[in-house]
Order: sequence, then C-alpha cells, then structure tokens
Amino acid sequence: MKILVIGSGGREHALAWKLRQSPDAERIFCAPGNAGTAEIAENVGVLASDLEALVRFAKENRVDLTVIGPDDPLAAGIVDLFAAEKLRAFGPTKSAARVESSKIFAKELMRAQKIPTAQARTFSDSGEALRYCERAKFPVVIKADGLALGKGVTIAADAATAQSTIDEMMNQRRFGDAGLRVVIEEFLRGTECSLHALVDGKNYRLLESARDHKRALDGDQGPNTGGMGAFSPANNWNSKLQSQFEKEIMQPVLRGLLQEGIKFHGLLYPGLIVTSQGPRVLEFNCRFGDPETQALLPRMKSDLLPLLEATIDGKIDQCAIEWDTRVAVTVVLASAGYPGKCETGKLISGLQGAAKLKDIQIFHAGTKRANDEVKTSGGRVLAVTALGSTIEDAREHAYEAVSRIHFENCYYRRDIALSAVPVNIDKSS
Ligand code: AMP
Repeated sequence: MKILVIGSGGREHALAWKLRQSPDAERIFCAPGNAGTAEIAENVGVLASDLEALVRFAKENRVDLTVIGPDDPLAAGIVDLFAAEKLRAFGPTKSAARVESSKIFAKELMRAQKIPTAQARTFSDSGEALRYCERAKFPVVIKADGLALGKGVTIAADAATAQSTIDEMMNQRRFGDAGLRVVIEEFLRGTECSLHALVDGKNYRLLESARDHKRALDGDQGPNTGGMGAFSPANNWNSKLQSQFEKEIMQPVLRGLLQEGIKFHGLLYPGLIVTSQGPRVLEFNCRFGDPETQALLPRMKSDLLPLLEATIDGKIDQCAIEWDTRVAVTVVLASAGYPGKCETGKLISGLQGAAKLKDIQIFHAGTKRANDEVKTSGGRVLAVTALGSTIEDAREHAYEAVSRIHFENCYYRRDIALSAVPVNIDKSS
C-alpha cells in the first residue's frame, strides 16, 4: 500500500515509523514531514494546511490511505474533500471533528448525554461574560470555543485575570474567530490522564492509557505548551476507572454523536481529569495526541495499519490490540523560549549515538536536514522515548539518551514521569 502521513511533528514521525513496520506498507509519504521522517519515508513539499494540494498529491500518486496527524486540517474538512474524490483517509469528517474544534459543541453533547465534565456556561457577548465573572467563585477556567494552537485555555485565579482574558479573547480577538465565543467553567481538582480510542462509527477499541506534561517548566510551572513529555501506562488509571470511563463517557459520547447523525471514524482522545468522584472530561480531541503517541506506539505490538483500516471500515470490533507490558517514557527536547519565540537553525549533534542505545526511539519534530546536517526548525525539536521494565528504568534510560544529544539552547524538563515513581519507604527506620 501507498500511505500518506500528513503533518510534521513528533506524532507524525511516530505514526510513519510504526506504519513502516507493517508488511503491507510499500511506500510512505510525509507531507511535509521533518528530518526524521525523511529517513524512513519520502517527504513531500506540501503543507498540512494546503488541502487542495494534498488531495491532488494523493490522487496523482494513487495513495491508498492517508493518515491525518494534526487537528487543523480535520477541522477544515480534509476527510470530506478526500471522500469526495473517493480517496481513503483516516480521521473524522469536518462535522465529527467539531468534538474538538468547538468546545461549545462538545459541552452541549456532554450535557445532553449527562457525561461527567466541569459545570460550564457559554457566552457570545463579552459584557455578559464579564458580568458573570463578577459573581464567580475563583479559580474559573476560560476556554476559547475554537482551535487556538493549544493556547485557548486560561485558568483565571481572580477577577482581574478573568476580565483581561475575556477582553483579549472576545474583544481584541487574540485567537481570531476562535475566541468570539467562550466557555467559562468550574476548576476541577485531580490528576490528568489521556485515553485514546479507535472509533469506527459504532464501536471502539481503547489504546493503553498515557499521561502528558503540558506545562513548560519542572514542577508543572510556566505556561501551557503542546506537551513536554509523556509516559504510558498512566499511574493514576486502573480497571475500575476504565469501566466507569467506558460506561459514563465512551458509550454515551458515541451514542450522542449518532443521535446527531454523526458517524465518527478515527481517533477519539478524551483528555480526562481523575477526581475523587471518578473521571471527568476536560476536552475531546479527534486525533492522536502529541507527545502521547510517541509513548504509546513503541508499546504497541500489533500492526497499526490493519487497525486504521478496520476503523475506517467499521470493523474495529473484530480487532485485538497487543501491548508491550513495559513502561514508556518520552522526553521532549525543545528550543529555549518555547512555547514563545525561539531561535532555530541550530546544529543537532549526538543523534546517531543516542539512537544506537537499546530500547530507545528518537522521534523528530522541529528538525530540518540541510547539507547532511540536522538542524532545529521549531519549538519542539525531538521526542526521545525509552522503554523500561519499571518507570525508574525507563526514566533513567530516556535521560541517558537525552544527555547524548546536543544543540544550542536545548531545553527539556527533568521531571518527566517523576511523579509516577513509587516513593521508597525506608524499612530500616
Ligand atoms: P483543554 O485544552 O481543555 O484540555 O485544557 C488545557 C489544560 O487546561 C488541561 O490539560 C488542564 O490542565 C487545564 N484545564 C482545562 N479545563 C480545566 C478544568 N475545568 N479544571 C482544571 N483544569 C482544567
């Protein structure tokens, strides 16, 4: 089969890497890809936002399956465009992608199906939103309705922050149309967990659990980012929570979508917070997580390609997914300054040495190959995944590999998965 992977991040490198292992994968293209995908696939000079050119490429090159990595092309309706040309694509249609592209749509769906989530109000008038915040109990969480590059959520500790956030989003249009409507919701306390499900319209198969680290700095400080690291399985997840999650969240959300006339085919990833009362939905995503995918796929023993095909064909209930029981820890190496402005074009050294270490996988994100050298080209540069028999093992191993990679102004968190390491009880005292 000829496969096209759309996107250029670590998630897309991990998807291409996993698909490459399939005996049925003949050729893999990445649009536009990065220096890592160039080693295992053929990079194509088409951006993920150029939907028409992507359709043209898939048609001209007789691509059998296209896998869409990022949310933006899905929200823009890339799968509908492919379907109109009788091209097979993995991912939800524009209408199904609204579970992610409209927080208001997702909230209404959850309300209708009584899915546990934060209590929320939606506003399209900034005056009303401001008045609501005068009486609110802080902290409150303010979310832009639409996609805002992962930056559309603010936890407002007080009225002044709430006012400035509402003003920026709704009046100054910091996120363009995406912030014209907002959701203001209660702040939930607990620990976060990511679940990924392959959904075939009616049935689903869950992938293993994972946790990511969204804040830029150690100790969960600093601004929210796309993700600075991840690990799988999640240490705050168990079979009891999973049954509650399936009964109270997964089954109702699919039922709700079907009642709206929407058949969701693709990857549905509810971001959860585990509270004392059980899992609550923070958001729905309609594509693989980044960097969770870089931690999950090295643990997946099954061939990914037939799973993606079964998801499209409505046959996921006939598939089983086998997993490596070891733990995966993924550390993201970023350019200093990320998620703000950062310098790029820095030479990366030590990649080959690090890649030779056992049970290490290096996924590229913001990298570019120029004159036989690999250079940085973005905020998140690499994701280094290690497998280990325990979380300590995997952590130690991941950081050993990270220590061998160098580029100017490289920044990474030192505490990825640290909270999951069991605390030793000193029996001698
Ligand atoms: P979202 O994009 O909706 O997942 O929000 C981004 C991040 O904001 C989440 O990963 C949480 O850390 C935080 N967050 C979102 N909603 C809430 C909430 N209701 N209570 C507490 N934290 C939240």
